[in-house]
Amino acid sequence: MAAAVARCVHCGFCLPACPTYQVLGEEMDSPRGRIVLMKEVLEDRLPLDHALPHIDRCLGCLGCVTACPSGVAYGDLLTPFREMANAKREPAAAFRRRLALLTLPYPARLRLAAMIAPIARALRRLTPDWMGDLLALLPPTLPASVPVPGFAPAIGARRARVGLLLGCAQRVLAPEINAATIRVLRRNGVDVVVPREQGCCGALSMHAGDPTARRFARRTMAAFPADVDAVVTNAAGCGSGMREYPLLFAGAPESDAASAFAQRVVDVSVFLDRLGVVAPPSLRAPLRVVYHDACHLSHAQGIREEPRRLLAAIPGVSLRSLDDGELCCGSAGLYNVEQPAIAAALGARKAAALLATRADLVATGNIGCLNQLRLHLARAGAGGRPMPVLHTVEILDHAYEGTMAVGTTLAS
Ligand code: SF4
Ligand code: SF4
Repeated sequence: MAAAVARCVHCGFCLPACPTYQVLGEEMDSPRGRIVLMKEVLEDRLPLDHALPHIDRCLGCLGCVTACPSGVAYGDLLTPFREMANAKREPAAAFRRRLALLTLPYPARLRLAAMIAPIARALRRLTPDWMGDLLALLPPTLPASVPVPGFAPAIGARRARVGLLLGCAQRVLAPEINAATIRVLRRNGVDVVVPREQGCCGALSMHAGDPTARRFARRTMAAFPADVDAVVTNAAGCGSGMREYPLLFAGAPESDAASAFAQRVVDVSVFLDRLGVVAPPSLRAPLRVVYHDACHLSHAQGIREEPRRLLAAIPGVSLRSLDDGELCCGSAGLYNVEQPAIAAALGARKAAALLATRADLVATGNIGCLNQLRLHLARAGAGGRPMPVLHTVEILDHAYEGTMAVGTTLAS
């Protein structure tokens, strides 16, 4: 934390890259302001409750890290600071956060929450606003669960063997992403191992500063066998969280194991790009795709070109560019629940930018972004058919399967 603070030279280059500074226009809601606030709290010169509202408004998107010419590792400051601050949070806010963290990372509980959401929506006047905001994120109906085998063999000659992380919320909210990922990997000659013992990877808790992240991380590290070439994830937040295990276990006995595990973690887009993706057949009709960079892929892991190369490898796909593509869409773990007004402002801004591209569909690599974009594109669509949003691997899967047909058979 001290190293991150010391590197900041207060130049302000990060300010235009910060979504909360763009929305609120306050120095204390910018990266530079937050670094000063955290420093003052750590040095006992400012009470925590003066700084915390501004730290809580930070999305953790790491747009500032990309923009910073001095190499300030803002995430190394933010994550431990949040853990320290969480222990001192006032009871009502701590309760809300705990409730969300006791629900979202557990598929069975999340499924139950989604089932009671329509009742709670109907009784909106009787429920607190924060609960209404939480429930608004859940779709009116959940997709049917898709059975996932423990092992799916490569089709044709085997080129690699990987372990697949299913994600906790993702397997409930969009199980088709994992099914598409397995099909695409198999078609590319990859054996896919899906460990039954896996649960949440801990990224949601870690990025909220909750110590339960270590329990989730230990379980995840133990779940994956040693005989796989990589631990593949199709969720940007999970990938960046697992690659942060060394930070989570810094100075702990698991430190070396956490570093070794983090090096095996790879996003599915990077894995396929490095492997050399098998060219899909040509689409039946041209398709204009706009790719939305998930912050936890682009800013946190530096992954920008690989998903675009996969999409461009599909004959018939043309990629559209997006204004302000580096700016967060407002979906960041619990952010929608805790900062609904800023999340909605950023979601609406992103939806308008996406619509302006006049693309046929949006591709992205993170379940949180996917839900946020679907919600705000639907709101912006004024009742018309919203622009579809799919995971990058789903588009590849549609191309392989010959099922890509915008406006008719495309699932979104
Ligand atoms: S760009 Fe980097 S060095 Fe400059 S104010 Fe922002 S964090 Fe500090
Ligand atoms: S992580 Fe994102 S929201 Fe937070 S200070 Fe950096 S750019 Fe701003």
